[in-house]
Amino acid sequence: MSAELAFNRSVDVVYGVAEAVAPGVRRIVANNPSPYTFLGTNTYVVGSGSVAVIDPGPADEAHLAAIVEALRGERVTHILITHSHRDHCDGALPLQAMLGGEIVAYGPTGTTRGVSTPDLDDAFVDGAFKPDRPVEDGDTVKADGFALDVLHMPGHAPDHLCFALVGKRTVFTGDHVMGWNTTVIAPPEGNMADFLASLEKLAQRNDKIFLPGHGGHIQTPQRVVRAYIMHRRWREQSILSCVDNGVGTIPRIVAKLYGGLDADLKQAAALSVLAHLEYLIARDLVVAEGAHDRLSAFFVRAASEPSS
Ligand SMILES: [Zn+2]
Repeated sequence: MSAELAFNRSVDVVYGVAEAVAPGVRRIVANNPSPYTFLGTNTYVVGSGSVAVIDPGPADEAHLAAIVEALRGERVTHILITHSHRDHCDGALPLQAMLGGEIVAYGPTGTTRGVSTPDLDDAFVDGAFKPDRPVEDGDTVKADGFALDVLHMPGHAPDHLCFALVGKRTVFTGDHVMGWNTTVIAPPEGNMADFLASLEKLAQRNDKIFLPGHGGHIQTPQRVVRAYIMHRRWREQSILSCVDNGVGTIPRIVAKLYGGLDADLKQAAALSVLAHLEYLIARDLVVAEGAHDRLSAFFVRAASEPSS
């Protein structure tokens, strides 16, 4: 079975300009391109007159100025954050200082990471991020002219939310589902079991369009979600068969499965393999030598071996 995903990378972007991307939705792209952010972070504006801003993006002066310019004469009621990674949330406080609006993100504590995660990457994650209004799965954020249902979709990040525009079959998917690449699932921030459960949750819905945190919109959302799930299952099988054949360390698995990858993406691939292995370990399909981390050796659990 081939599970290569077809990505849409043909997106035309003019930085700093608000562009209508769906009925009642404008997008402004931040100029922070990278191997992880594609062309940059998408900031969305929902509604007109009274508006919500979804993911203000990085604390980049030109980007914040572009948002302010686009919203001249309008009132920001909410600043919604899909997850507290810096390329999505760092602009929240500066934007609020300029335009107001209540900062809304996952709660009750603002994060599910707790304080005991020493290897969180500070360059990517704002561990101290706190919303004005914490929300949970099933909540709705309302203002004049629009309502957004809150969907808790952990996996890429424990606090990851998607927002469904009520009555429009439109979902802002953040980094949970993107059209240009697969999402990075990097422990301890990322969790493969959660990610797959969150994909299954999206697969149960009947949406028409996804507006992701990076890259262009997705017009065949159900097909993309199912392809994502297939792709992860196929990847898991490849990893399991590596381990089964004695290719039992992460560097060797990465070399075998991701041969042609850029060096700076190999680190992400290593973490993704670790996420798959953690999920295999959780289901007693694989065992690790000692504490399982990037340096462990992994073995397929023998059928007769009792599970611990
Ligand atoms: Zn992102």
